Amino acid sequence: MNRPATPAPIRGMNDVLADDMPYWQFIEARARELFAAYGYQELRVPVVEHTELFKRSIGEFTDIVEKEMYTFTDRGGESLTLRPEATAGLVRAAITNGLLHNQRHRVWTSGPMFRYERPQKGRFRQFHQIDCEAFGYEGPDVDSEMILLSARLWRALGVSRVKLQINSLGTPQSRQAYRELLVRHFEAHPDQLDEDSRRRLGGNPLRILDSKNPAMQDLIAAAPAITDHLDPDSAAHFDGLRALLDAAGVEYTVNPRLVRGLDYYTRTVFEWTTDALGSQDAVCSGGRYDGLIAQLGGEPTPAIGWALGVERIAGLLRETGVAVPGASPDVFVVIAGAAAERRGVALVERWRDALPGIRISSQLGGGSFKTQMKRADRSGATVAVILGDAEAERGEAAVKHLRSEAAQEACAWDEVPGKIRALLARAS
Ligand code: ATP
Ligand code: MG
Repeated sequence: MNRPATPAPIRGMNDVLADDMPYWQFIEARARELFAAYGYQELRVPVVEHTELFKRSIGEFTDIVEKEMYTFTDRGGESLTLRPEATAGLVRAAITNGLLHNQRHRVWTSGPMFRYERPQKGRFRQFHQIDCEAFGYEGPDVDSEMILLSARLWRALGVSRVKLQINSLGTPQSRQAYRELLVRHFEAHPDQLDEDSRRRLGGNPLRILDSKNPAMQDLIAAAPAITDHLDPDSAAHFDGLRALLDAAGVEYTVNPRLVRGLDYYTRTVFEWTTDALGSQDAVCSGGRYDGLIAQLGGEPTPAIGWALGVERIAGLLRETGVAVPGASPDVFVVIAGAAAERRGVALVERWRDALPGIRISSQLGGGSFKTQMKRADRSGATVAVILGDAEAERGEAAVKHLRSEAAQEACAWDEVPGKIRALLARAS
């Protein structure tokens, strides 16, 4: 019989399967704990917004808006876009829910983002971010808190091989003046500009600094540095941030060529990169966007945020051999024989009642004793409980430590939970 063809998965959009999930759950759990510890509140916002929101926030001349958005017209004729990042939606939510009237908020969210990029290792069309934002805080103290929170997250995860770069982009006014200097510098060497850079020269010349083209690096190195052209308040803000980071003992480099691909940033920008993942080396990035909220029609409110890429952090954990808590059950129940099967389901439920928090997986669908013992071993469980017909007749089960040479022991059904607890305590 001919099987019908299966629709293909979408390029650049991944299924996260059981082997990867422990990494994701580990990252998500540690992040959730830290946000709670720092007093950040979780928000969830839609994955689609009006296209205009992203155009007006991320900027018309950015790669994201020019060529990476998943934009479509809905059945009501409205232009909607799958979110390419979380900040715009969170800002929109803060404004439209009236969260910014004489209030300050520190919030976080997580979920899928969508960009029509060229899929490759570490770069996908649906990817996931954990994102946090602070609305209403002006000083460099919140900038440092945001960075310290991310640094603490790396420690909690056992992430190594990450480095922090910081920069300041000043205010829109100081940036405009710097932008003119930069254009003059690049225009003086037209023969050294590649095609991308020539295109960016008119719309977004700062992005040229971000070019990865080796042939451009000398010209970029000779360009004026933005940190030498900050307005006095932005310079003071940046000095303040550096002093706070120094006092907290975080290592960083000032990289005046760090510009970020979104238009809304002002003053502080930062990025954590790694040398363990090849060319997709940014694992977490963010910055301040003091003008954005007003630009979108909200009360003028200073703000800052960052986002980490879950796929890249998971890749980094795997690449650097970090052991994450597994998804293995603690206990595997082997149920072999007709009498055992009649009692098995209800018994395992009783043991689950007695052992909250302990992961108990049970064999379903029968099978020989030998096959089931193999399954128990392969499940990664620490303890096996064996219910055969002979045991079932006597009101007993055998309990065995699977990761030691100790012999199995027969227990009355009501004693099984106590025995499991004792064996698990010994194992840890
Ligand atoms: P990159 O320079 O790698 O394109 P970016 O500057 O576009 O990153 P942001 O928009 O700041 O990244 O997003 C924050 C984080 O999200 C990045 O540091 C990265 O870890 C992750 N990220 C961004 N784009 C992708 C993608 N297409 N696939 C997987 N992860 C991504
Ligand atoms: Mg990008």
